[in-house]
Amino acid sequence: MLPDHQLLRIPGPSPIPPSVQRAMSQQMIGHRGQETKDLLQRIKPKLMPIFGTEQEVMIIAGSGTAGLETAVVNAVNPDDEVLVIVTGSFGERFAKLCSEYRIQTHRLDIEWGKSVSPESVERYLRQHPSIKAVFSTYCETSTGVLNPIEELAQVVHHNSNALFIVDGVSCVGGVESKMDEWGVDILITGSQKAMMLPAGLTFVAASNRAWKVIAANKRPRFYLDLKKYQITLAKDSTPFTPALSLLFGLEQVLKLMEEEGLEQVYARHQLMKNMTRAAFQAHGIPLLTSDTSASPTVTAIKPADFPAEELRRIIKKEFGLSIAGGQQHLEGEIFRIGHMGYCSPADVLQIIGIIEIGLQKIGKAIDLGKGIRAAQKVYIG
Ligand SMILES: *Cc1c(COP(=O)(O)O)cnc(C)c1O
Repeated sequence: MLPDHQLLRIPGPSPIPPSVQRAMSQQMIGHRGQETKDLLQRIKPKLMPIFGTEQEVMIIAGSGTAGLETAVVNAVNPDDEVLVIVTGSFGERFAKLCSEYRIQTHRLDIEWGKSVSPESVERYLRQHPSIKAVFSTYCETSTGVLNPIEELAQVVHHNSNALFIVDGVSCVGGVESKMDEWGVDILITGSQKAMMLPAGLTFVAASNRAWKVIAANKRPRFYLDLKKYQITLAKDSTPFTPALSLLFGLEQVLKLMEEEGLEQVYARHQLMKNMTRAAFQAHGIPLLTSDTSASPTVTAIKPADFPAEELRRIIKKEFGLSIAGGQQHLEGEIFRIGHMGYCSPADVLQIIGIIEIGLQKIGKAIDLGKGIRAAQKVYIG
């Protein structure tokens, strides 16, 4: 194998564009000087359309989970009841986070691989009128499901006064988000998935309703206190030392997204999803999710007659191609391909070609090239 040649196709961290890598290697600047203010001033307006909001997007140094914790400690009062929709391991994380804070946490558990139906949330809220916040993942990375956020926001607001809080870590930047129009109260993402950066930044935007709850919330918090970020960001600054190298990279990421056009970014992710799914469908290899609930950023495959782990091992060994396995009870049962951020249809053709060789090598008799052909047809249209 060619040394130092890696094909990283797990659902985050994802590859980093060379121009972003170069931007991040700039020399350090003073974090309280004019250059940093100018940098934040340039970044701020370009984050808003990615969230689909007129609100400022807070930038916090920390991994995606810091963003989830930020939402919990700022928006949930000490004796509030909350509902967490659990469609996989990241919904689970939200539930655990809430329980750790001794919040009375209701769980709506959905079979892994399925998206949540808005009707089930509606029923739950009608039976539990005291719920103050509803948490959902947008893309559930562990299963490749994209939950119907627009419809969920509607049922939350029609059936309760709860805030609707969404973990968009593995799709915001690759999938359209219309936070204001849909009525999402808090939307969170991270830097290392569709945002094409290393891990280390989390982004949090809040609606006017959410900001009111946050301002009145008596829960103690310090580093993750959103009000501090709001006050300082209004002055083009941050409450603590910003992760400047990541901000240099972020500016370049936003420039790349603007150049491509957000509509095109989202269309590219849809296309990659469709190509990937068509390839496995052509081979008769089952997918974990249905066409309608599948995420444009990650595809989960659930093989019936070959071991997922053996496939992962051989393509890593021979081609340096990393794809992800399953989490928790899906470990060994599924494999997951990340096609988000710095990934194009050309990469999808490469992934499929390599996987076909891997399948042949682990002894599954397949028609070589059949998946590639199916993906090519999707591309050509
Ligand atoms: C990756 C991810 C996170 C954040 O994980 P970190 O390891 O803390 O960055 C949160 N939610 C989802 C849906 C994710 O995919």
